[in-house]
Amino acid sequence: MNLILLIPDDMVTDARARITGRRLRHVLEVHRAGVGDELVVGLLGGRIGTGRVTRVDDSLLEMDVRLDRDPPAGLPLTVVLALPRPKVLRRVLHSLSVMGVKRIVLVNAARVEKSYWQTPFLTQEAIDRQLVLGLEQSRDTLLPEVLLKQRFKPFAEDELPGMIKGSLSLVAHPGVAATCPRDVRGPVTLAVGPEGGFVPYEIEKLVSLGFIPVSLGERVLHVEAAIPALVSRLF
Ligand code: SAH
Repeated sequence: MNLILLIPDDMVTDARARITGRRLRHVLEVHRAGVGDELVVGLLGGRIGTGRVTRVDDSLLEMDVRLDRDPPAGLPLTVVLALPRPKVLRRVLHSLSVMGVKRIVLVNAARVEKSYWQTPFLTQEAIDRQLVLGLEQSRDTLLPEVLLKQRFKPFAEDELPGMIKGSLSLVAHPGVAATCPRDVRGPVTLAVGPEGGFVPYEIEKLVSLGFIPVSLGERVLHVEAAIPALVSRLF
């Protein structure tokens, strides 16, 4: 936890916060902060700054808070991701949040197992938990938006065209000739397939909307590895 993420309920006044529970335990066990020490803090959806500890015991930490700078800019990137299996989903949500991706669309695809849509990791609470852990890791406060699209075709036909307007649209597909571009300036929409890959119909549909199939080479990477590799090339 490189930043203590505060929520409006933690604020006793504009300049004073109280934390308990998980964040308190972390500060006690990892930071081992005492009265007078300074912690990096941020207000969910707001600015970041410093919290000077004024009181701390086993049940509560109080600090004077000064929020004096903006969080890092989010990436101008929308990731359209075929729903991965639950364990991978958790890790991917976390790492997308760490990398600064602010819009994530989880979509169905032919090779997504139907049962994946039933996982408890897809509840808003479970999603937010991973996203918040990512913000605390990367010193950010802006919660990404996660959209769930359980039907590929209506999503692709009715919603995706509007969503990709003005962005460079890429579909990551191992082995295609075009390599993933580097250092793109401007908005990008990136589609990433399921473990079994996108089927030809899905690729054709995306291409018909203007998506360009791009590759990182002929090696097939796990989704978890492919995403950071793609993002770090793009930005
Ligand atoms: N069995 C599938 C691979 C799926 S890997 C196939 O042969 O196509 C899961 C997803 O990760 C892919 O759909 C793609 O979006 C991304 N990915 C994995 N390796 C990649 C690579 N070398 N280049 C581009 N995308 C890749």
